[in-house]
Amino acid sequence: MKLLEERILAEGTAIDENILKVDGFINHQVEPELMRAIGKDFATHFKDKGITKVVTIESSGIAPALMTAEAMGVPLLILKKSPSKVLNANMFQTVVTSFTKGSSYELTLAGHLISENDHVLIIDDFLANGEAATGAIRLIRKAHATVAGVGILIEKSFQPGRAKLEEQGFYVYSQVRIARLGKGVIELLQGEEDAGN
Ligand code: 5GP
Repeated sequence: MKLLEERILAEGTAIDENILKVDGFINHQVEPELMRAIGKDFATHFKDKGITKVVTIESSGIAPALMTAEAMGVPLLILKKSPSKVLNANMFQTVVTSFTKGSSYELTLAGHLISENDHVLIIDDFLANGEAATGAIRLIRKAHATVAGVGILIEKSFQPGRAKLEEQGFYVYSQVRIARLGKGVIELLQGEEDAGN
């Protein structure tokens, strides 16, 4: 997605060869116009897939996921990073390892908000090792709903997330794919949009 690529190249900061900071327009300050364009792009890409809900993980995925849900005319379901004491008979929970924090957290989904009739689109800001998306998929499957695909704003293609999801048979669409990061270096993966993305 050209608009997002341009913003990342102009305003993103690679702090090392693994982490990209986009605090000025996605993760800390959020730009509504950019989020609206991102939402429209996902909605166009996943139209006609029979999606009944957009699902994201709190908190950085919420803004683009909400705009996607609005553009598709479906509800947004936010997977909560809540402590396990909220667990009851109708709660699904799973443990996810955080890429940026190096620690684990529990992800929770209230069972009454999703059913076997739901076909969901998962939206997240970054794809690194695929832990967050895999955790979201685990919860959706516990609820017997199905996954239409995974929509990512920024995929770090040098990390194994995409391969991990594709090996399990999930379709991944990333608006921007990054080939390499280094201190002060951001290199995009070129030509991917034409190669079936
Ligand atoms: P994964 O679960 O795929 O390993 O990592 C994805 C999650 O980690 C995303 O939800 C995002 O919050 C965070 N993340 C991974 N890599 C980066 C990065 O380079 N920059 C930022 N800001 N967040 C990242």
